[in-house]
Amino acid sequence: MSSLWLDDHDLRVGLCFKGGGELKKAVDWCSLKGQQKCVIRETAKDEYIFECIRWKCKWSLGAARMEKHGLVEIIKYTGPHTCPPVDPEDIKSEFEADEIERVVRVKPTQTVAELKKWWKNKIGYELETSDVQSAKMEAIKRVFGDWDQSFEDLPKLMSVFHSSNGLLVDWKYHLFPNPKFASFCGVFWAFPQSIEGFQYCRPLIVVDTKNLNGKYQMKLMIASGVDAANNYFPLAFAVTKEVSTDIWRWFLTGIREKVTQRKHLCLISSPHPDIVAVINEPGSLWQEPWAYHKFCLSHLCSQFNNAFQDYYLEDLVKLAGSTSKKEEFDSFMKDIKKYNLEAQNWLDQFSQNQWALAHDNGQRYGIMEIDTTSLFAVCKGFGLADHVVTGSVLLLFDELRSSFDKSFNCSRSSLNCGDVYTKPVLDKLGEFRTSSVTYIVMPLDNNTFQVETPSQKDEWIVQLSNCTCSCGEFQRCKFPCLHALAVCKKLKFNPLQYVDDCYTLELLKRTYAATFSPVPEISAWPKVSEVPRLLPPVIPPPPPAQSPPPANKVSGTKRRATPRTTKKKS
Ligand SMILES: [Zn+2]
Ligand SMILES: [Zn+2]
Repeated sequence: MSSLWLDDHDLRVGLCFKGGGELKKAVDWCSLKGQQKCVIRETAKDEYIFECIRWKCKWSLGAARMEKHGLVEIIKYTGPHTCPPVDPEDIKSEFEADEIERVVRVKPTQTVAELKKWWKNKIGYELETSDVQSAKMEAIKRVFGDWDQSFEDLPKLMSVFHSSNGLLVDWKYHLFPNPKFASFCGVFWAFPQSIEGFQYCRPLIVVDTKNLNGKYQMKLMIASGVDAANNYFPLAFAVTKEVSTDIWRWFLTGIREKVTQRKHLCLISSPHPDIVAVINEPGSLWQEPWAYHKFCLSHLCSQFNNAFQDYYLEDLVKLAGSTSKKEEFDSFMKDIKKYNLEAQNWLDQFSQNQWALAHDNGQRYGIMEIDTTSLFAVCKGFGLADHVVTGSVLLLFDELRSSFDKSFNCSRSSLNCGDVYTKPVLDKLGEFRTSSVTYIVMPLDNNTFQVETPSQKDEWIVQLSNCTCSCGEFQRCKFPCLHALAVCKKLKFNPLQYVDDCYTLELLKRTYAATFSPVPEISAWPKVSEVPRLLPPVIPPPPPAQSPPPANKVSGTKRRATPRTTKKKS
């Protein structure tokens, strides 16, 4: 027996409505009363299915126009809501978040732009990019946020990136007695889009590691080039259970095998003994002439300070490392030696051209320190996804794709405006143009010029023919310093002819020219056969606590950290 719906009725099977519009009003009214929100999921002609917007809520309602009476009748009803009521103010944003989560569950690699477009088509109004971004991030966190599940999911994700985008992957794991299972030790990956772009970057790679928080306290490793605008260009990543000599060998070999075989690469890293040991191993492709191994000056200084616990000495080392003048370097070294002979011996374990700008032959392009914040900026998803690996890698893919798009479009529009060189070069030209100093330029023999300030306090020697200035900056950065610009102005030469090609917008554009392909939805992800079922890393139990030595023994000893532990500047 059917009856018509009245406002005070609850919904139930058998209720009839004149049409779909009236049914919808009734559903809306009941939702409003209960502070819930329901949407029509699918409708065929004269068929209606409503569901609660919250994906875990079981509430649903089905109705159809029945031939026997010509009315729309509720034929299926699952209620009441299992979700708690919400403040109407929050309903909209929760609705948006849940709808986006629904998509992320199916297609977690949809870009923010794709999600926005999908939303507009389906729901009819436009969402803010930042709202979609944060909704997607939250959804990834909810869907892929389980730590232990993450190790099982990761091979699937890597393999779909491989099949869709050619991702290069290398796994490290320990097999269990049953070889169908293994515990995770590490995964290395590099996108071919980055590898392609790197050939347009200067021959320089920066490597570093970062501790990941979260349940398993793993490490994130990164290798990055530097693009024409002096920004980091991410090349390869690894997540590992720990960092050791073995892991560094695996990571650096991975770069040589999968990312670049270029000769004369400058490699900038921390002077950590694990890295130094691997690079100095016989047969390593990170030695001359394949590569020049250099140290990040701030990593070197903090390692130095771990050994000597002396900020005055550390400052001297920093000054010695960053001056481009050999005489100044020598004088700082003299001071260090006078102050502490041990300190000089410590520094002598490294070749001076590994850490001192004055002894660098331009291989570092003036890059003395690793800016870890910028270096790991592309990995910010690791923090946002609570460091759960699968979710973090998904967000990294987003970040990488959008940085490619952004840099490509920026360089293209600058090129279209007729620009040729990137910001660092233009900034230097601007600095010269607005400088209040008028340099006095005097020709000496042999295409050599002496440049002086009017007070004659400072003077520099510039040789345009071999792109050098006694200030060191010209040869170090490979574009004219202020003094060389003064010479160019005097001679009416175009200074841009002395700018290294690595700073051109054309190369910047090519660096980011590769495109990423869409990734299929989860149901179409390939089956993983090359990796056993991965379980979380095995973390050795902490060593039994040792009873502390008697207090009187400690008091006289100056505490020294071992140089093995590298403290990172945050
Ligand atoms: Zn509900
Ligand atoms: Zn100069």
